[in-house]
Amino acid sequence: MPRDPALPLLLTPGPVSVSRSTKEVMLLDRPSGDVEFSADLRFAREYLVSIVNGGGRYTAVPVPGSATYANEAVIATLVPEGGKLLLHSNGVYGDRLIEICEALGTPYAVLRTEPFTPPTAAQFEAMLRADPVITHIMVVHCETSTGVLNPLEEVAALCQRYAKRLLIDAVASFGAIDLDARSLRFDAAVLSSNKCMQGVPGVGWAVVARDALEGAKGHCRSLTLDLWDQEQHMQRTGGFRFTPPTHVVSAFAQACREHADEGGAPARLARYRRNWRRLVDGMRQMGFATVVPDAHASPIVATFRAPEHPGFSFEALFAGMKRRGFVIFPGRLALANTFRIGCMGAVEEADIAEAMEALAEVMTEMGIRDLGRVEAAGA
Ligand SMILES: *Cc1c(COP(=O)(O)O)cnc(C)c1O
Repeated sequence: MPRDPALPLLLTPGPVSVSRSTKEVMLLDRPSGDVEFSADLRFAREYLVSIVNGGGRYTAVPVPGSATYANEAVIATLVPEGGKLLLHSNGVYGDRLIEICEALGTPYAVLRTEPFTPPTAAQFEAMLRADPVITHIMVVHCETSTGVLNPLEEVAALCQRYAKRLLIDAVASFGAIDLDARSLRFDAAVLSSNKCMQGVPGVGWAVVARDALEGAKGHCRSLTLDLWDQEQHMQRTGGFRFTPPTHVVSAFAQACREHADEGGAPARLARYRRNWRRLVDGMRQMGFATVVPDAHASPIVATFRAPEHPGFSFEALFAGMKRRGFVIFPGRLALANTFRIGCMGAVEEADIAEAMEALAEVMTEMGIRDLGRVEAAGA
């Protein structure tokens, strides 16, 4: 049965598709002090902490807005006066952390590496040795603009060795790629209500070490982004300081239940891996080449080179896919002519298989029969 183009499936790096059952939760208007709403909020917070096995030591603080708001709240709340942040960037989201520091006036240093390769521990270590003033390191776990998975464990080990605090932009990994606070010490991990958690977009979350947050009173120069203040308010009242995004939070609680029902992060990662495998195999069979070496690629999104073929146009591919009920995404990097197809969200391997059939049809429409076979991308 062909897909209904009026209900397109998002094969994008975000927002991602959400299950019908999660969206249906939003049909009810809930008052803010309502017991059911308070229970949803409490459950969602506890569930997020349980994903990282952080029971007792961590708390989950919601920040209305997209995940960038929560990244900004983490930097503004946890990096104190006199602190300095070492940022790593190999893509759009690393660069956004730099923009946040610029806007907040937070002192920072940048380790920049090539877009399609992760950094090495030695590169971080050289920066730390050269600049002892650095107090915190912030890394993007999974750089969604390319799909590159950055080496979180190595950076966390360095933080331990040099007594630095670790902040993680886990927006594209949290809920799928393993993050365990028992083996990897971090002060904060940021996630989105959407992405791998598959709630509707609208709330960012910071999973924060209680001891780091307790010491952060008065750091934040913003009222709305102050995680310390939101946390102490939740401890007193169980709720948000200002009008809560009730629909988003209750839908998020449902998304958490569905995450648990699926089998938690390992099962979700396994499904995304199946999606990614089907996608990359299907695209390679049609002659498309991936940009990121497979060894560094995360299964949340894949970046493809736009083929040189004179008949090919991304706009035509996008439009043809949209007519068939699939939304794909342009590349984010100016330096390469690329496009992206996402594997996150309420998407199954069978959906990817259908998308590959649709893509083959669109290629035929463009008059492209064969791009030639492409082998796996090497390092
Ligand atoms: C989606 C995403 C963000 C947040 O971007 P928004 O535009 O605020 O949704 C931050 N970091 C990463 C790695 C992301 O994938």
